[in-house]
Amino acid sequence: MEIEAKRWGFRGKIELNAASASTVRGYLNQIIARINKDNSSSVIRLGHGDPSHFPSFKTTPAAEDAIVDALRSAKHNCYAPSAGVLPARRAIADYLNRDLPCKLSPDDVYLTSGCNQAIEVAINVLSRPGANILLPRPGFPYYESCSAYNHLEVRHYDLLPEKGWEVDLDAVETIADENTVALVIINPGNPCGNVFSYEQLHKVAETARKLGILVISDEAYDNLAFGSTRYVPMRVLGSTVPVLTLGSISKRWIVSGCN
Ligand SMILES: *Cc1c(COP(=O)(O)O)cnc(C)c1O
Repeated sequence: MEIEAKRWGFRGKIELNAASASTVRGYLNQIIARINKDNSSSVIRLGHGDPSHFPSFKTTPAAEDAIVDALRSAKHNCYAPSAGVLPARRAIADYLNRDLPCKLSPDDVYLTSGCNQAIEVAINVLSRPGANILLPRPGFPYYESCSAYNHLEVRHYDLLPEKGWEVDLDAVETIADENTVALVIINPGNPCGNVFSYEQLHKVAETARKLGILVISDEAYDNLAFGSTRYVPMRVLGSTVPVLTLGSISKRWIVSGCN
């Protein structure tokens, strides 16, 4: 990859090394390392995914106190259940149930160390010889990495820029087959920043139901929605199609040190 970038404050032409940059962050790190220091004030870094780098985004003292109290109580210096402790799973189920017609129980909740580990677990569980998974393009590259690690075939469907990054549902129907295990959506979208409307989610659910596949809805940015489209979580359509919601406290709650 080669970019001509003098006017961006870089030292002329940049040769990016694809071998050492299998992720967006890999490319980004190479670009940042080449920023011309004298010109750096004119470069706005929009590629920073970690809110804790910005002084205006602070982890809430409630989260810090809860961790300190748990540590000092000496009640948790032992192995925890793999799925997470019951009070935490119950609190998450109660929180999610606020906007759900069919209620979740704590047993529907599985705690991981960040959303990235949730992606790992989901891909791990779904992988079997010959299976494939439908991923958005552009998307979040960790899905591709986990699929490659688990020998799960990736099939990409496009997000359509001219339609506000809607899912190309015709493409989804074309690339899916009897070995497709799931369709991944990212809502609100990373990297496009779009928010799927309820109507769009409904169409995604209908398509997945027709194909007999699970929808994995990555909502790491839940409620961080700008613009006029109201954020609706995919799980409200859980009676149409099975939905696996992946969530995180890293972004919205600024506890990115949880992984
Ligand atoms: C940040 C992010 C993740 C990873 O979340 P962590 O909780 O930090 O592990 C997963 N998916 C998307 C779309 C993200 O932007």
